Amino acid sequence: MTSILVKDGIIVTMDRDRRILSDHAVVIQDGRFRAIGKIDEITKDWKTDDVVDASGGIVMPGLVCSHTHLYGMLLRGAKLDVAPPSDFTQILQRIWWPVDESLTFDDAYASALVGCLEFLKTGTTTFADTYSGPNSIEGVLDRIASAVDEVGIRGLIAFEATERHSKEEGERGVEENVRFARKMRQEQRSKVMPLFSLHASFTVTNELIKSVRRLASDLAVPVTIHTSEGLGDLQHNMVRYGKRTVERLRDAGLLAPDVVLAHCVHVNDAELDIVAASGAKVAHNPMSNMLNAVGVAPVPSMLRRGITVGLGNDGYIFDGFENIRAAYLVHRVVSRDPNAIDPYTILEMATVRGAQLYGLDRELGSIEPGKQADLIVIKPDILPTPLSSDSVVGHLINTVDGDDVKTVIVDGRVVMRDRKILTADEDETQKKAQGAAAGLWERLRAAKPQVDVL
Ligand SMILES: [Zn+2]
Repeated sequence: MTSILVKDGIIVTMDRDRRILSDHAVVIQDGRFRAIGKIDEITKDWKTDDVVDASGGIVMPGLVCSHTHLYGMLLRGAKLDVAPPSDFTQILQRIWWPVDESLTFDDAYASALVGCLEFLKTGTTTFADTYSGPNSIEGVLDRIASAVDEVGIRGLIAFEATERHSKEEGERGVEENVRFARKMRQEQRSKVMPLFSLHASFTVTNELIKSVRRLASDLAVPVTIHTSEGLGDLQHNMVRYGKRTVERLRDAGLLAPDVVLAHCVHVNDAELDIVAASGAKVAHNPMSNMLNAVGVAPVPSMLRRGITVGLGNDGYIFDGFENIRAAYLVHRVVSRDPNAIDPYTILEMATVRGAQLYGLDRELGSIEPGKQADLIVIKPDILPTPLSSDSVVGHLINTVDGDDVKTVIVDGRVVMRDRKILTADEDETQKKAQGAAAGLWERLRAAKPQVDVL
């Protein structure tokens, strides 16, 4: 396997000591970071096959997207013939659930390819994806896994189990995750990892929650579930169970350190105390929450309680730096507190805390010898003020866009160099996705979208 020296540039390690280093270099060998040290000492001690010059730029771990739906990509720009939804439940009923039903295996593959491509091109090297498609269940995770492997990114992938239509639908969704988890264990693929996903508490029974809890523990696979994203979830649990969403999930036995609750917008202090006590984690999706007009998750309160929070895109804007900026800004505006969350913590949410969500922080999320070598080199196209170890965090929050990411290394392999993807044909990938999207939009226009009633 190739060895690589990444030198010059400001290295934002994201390690426990929050080290930011200049005049240093990183050595990568056999897929892992091997050494980090002063450039002159490192170049004396190590001879590598390849050199990545990061001078004038920033070196940091690849971003971790804690929650996404790769197939969400296919809806970008779509103009659908539906009555305009006026709240989040209607957004699901009129847009997303008909989309889920129209998805094919080929759509899953094509959207995964282009989603992985956009992730790499904007600096994300690991993501947690959940796919939802009641008419494309058995075997679909293999198609998504192929796309992940082809593009050369790292992904946790799951089928989103739901009992929206029937109990059987829920069981089939869970079974696909079990099949895939067993297969991944056998094949021991380093870049594709299994995940269990339950859609949301208002579309699953306690029975299904308990069954997933048992299976996830048996197979040692993390679990994710949308949690009080919109008010409908909370209302459902109050009416049916007399409990708030997090209380119900606790009472169903789900909450544990291997559980990632996506969103947690409509949660109160008592629920946050329950989350903190259980060790469950939260995936925060600020841009998606804005898009769906659901409100703002109380992330500062989560952080004060020591809850681990990662940053996700929920299938909306794939550029991690846009999501970083949104997370930085939204809590200021809603709290009217300019110190709502400090910039470095936002960067941790996008890297090492994201890895922590899925129990991957021993291997990923920071540049440290021994960890798997996922790294990005950023050279801002426009840099109006000096770049130094003092200014780099400010630049990452306020200056950098995904397009400024020039080189990406995943698992010790250069997958993008000078903005050119080396693993996949960018034009072909986009053509494939555009074809899939056009077909999906056509089917959606032709179908009379069904409105599911809770
Ligand atoms: Zn989601």
